[in-house]
Amino acid sequence: MDTASAIAFDVIVIGAGPAGSAAATVAARSGLSVALIDKAIFPRDKLCGGGFTGRAANYYREIFGQDLPADVPFRSDVEFHAFGENIGVIEDIPPVYMTMRLELDNLMFEHAIAAGAEDFSGVRDLTIDADAQRVTFGDGRVLQAAVMIGADGIKSAVARALFGRSFDADTVGFGFEIEAPARGEDAPLRIDFGQAIWGYGWSFPKRNSTTIGVGGVLSKNPNLRGIMSDYVEQLGAPPNVRFKGHHLPFGKARKQPGRAATLLAGDAAWFVDPVTGEGIAYAMKSGAMAAEAAVEAIQRHEPHMAVMLYRNRLRPITWAIAQANFVRLIIYWGPFRKGFIRAFRQSGTLRHDYMRLLGGELEYHHIMGKLLRRLPNFLRRAFLKPRA
Ligand SMILES: Cc1cc2nc3c(=O)[nH]c(=O)nc-3n(C[C@H](O)[C@H](O)[C@H](O)COP(=O)(O)OP(=O)(O)OC[C@H]3O[C@@H](n4cnc5c(N)ncnc54)[C@H](O)[C@@H]3O)c2cc1C
Repeated sequence: MDTASAIAFDVIVIGAGPAGSAAATVAARSGLSVALIDKAIFPRDKLCGGGFTGRAANYYREIFGQDLPADVPFRSDVEFHAFGENIGVIEDIPPVYMTMRLELDNLMFEHAIAAGAEDFSGVRDLTIDADAQRVTFGDGRVLQAAVMIGADGIKSAVARALFGRSFDADTVGFGFEIEAPARGEDAPLRIDFGQAIWGYGWSFPKRNSTTIGVGGVLSKNPNLRGIMSDYVEQLGAPPNVRFKGHHLPFGKARKQPGRAATLLAGDAAWFVDPVTGEGIAYAMKSGAMAAEAAVEAIQRHEPHMAVMLYRNRLRPITWAIAQANFVRLIIYWGPFRKGFIRAFRQSGTLRHDYMRLLGGELEYHHIMGKLLRRLPNFLRRAFLKPRA
């Protein structure tokens, strides 16, 4: 390939969801030339509950320099169920915004373009050379960059080009969703832990609809469609709405978030909270961190060092996901179940701490201490017969 005829950029970002638009915004604002590529034309939809926590709202403000539009509805209460039992409503929680991804992602995409990223959306035919940070379009155009950021979701072509596969079939999650009719302003925001095996169900009241879904580890839920049908029926939603399904990362974060000057962000790097399935917040944050690593690597004239600089920045995310995996064990592992339900129902502080965690006011290590103090009780309940 004749690189002289290629269009040169500092950074190529592939995928313009929350991770890619955040990456493109931060890189362009730092003065780098950025190509933002997506196979879709925006506005485009993405299957997702659209639950946007206080943590996500903080990252959004930090990255895009403004708040979500004032008309995005939010809830300050949530109704929890676990393994079929109602374990209570929590009120006065940090707001959880009920977004529609069609609108949300378009906003972020527009921020990226306004920051100076060049728009290459709607390009379906592209060949990615991840080791050379080069992309060739079907019409013959070639883009070449110092750093490439793969933010192209769970089926990431960039991850496939780097590592041969985009996700791990043993740990990947899958979610089904429907948009059911709206149920009025008082309809609860509801989470059902254990609705699927190592997974949960949700009902999110939106302005014009209710997003109902079920998600869990795919390998443990061969009948996820049947579980979804039961959940839809249980919530009294119309049974004849067609389900849509999509993979999501639902286990460990990637050990290698890229190679040399090619970085992976968001779902492509498996940055989803394994307890809640929340991925928008980490997608935006990791995208921003990838861009910061790119800026530093380019300034140092060492683009190949980008992955090392990125990995250092990612520590708070990878550490939080590792701790969340421990919390997930306490919630979903059969023998601990009763202890978890009891602790969650009885301890107002644990419940509120959990919501403050979603709100971005606490980190997993804050609630880990409290759970560890309860571990002997969980173990006793799990392994000792109750006293006669
Ligand atoms: C059913 C379900 C419910 C969910 N609910 C929630 C929730 O309520 N709250 C929450 O925080 N998270 C939720 N998530 C997770 C969340 O949707 C993801 O974590 C988040 O979208 C990740 O953002 P991203 O930018 O990494 O990837 P994406 O949002 O998937 O964006 C990837 C972009 O890359 C583009 N692309 C893909 N391949 C290519 C290619 N080869 N070339 C060019 N472009 C490409 C796509 O068109 C897309 O625009 C849910 C996920 C599922 C499946």
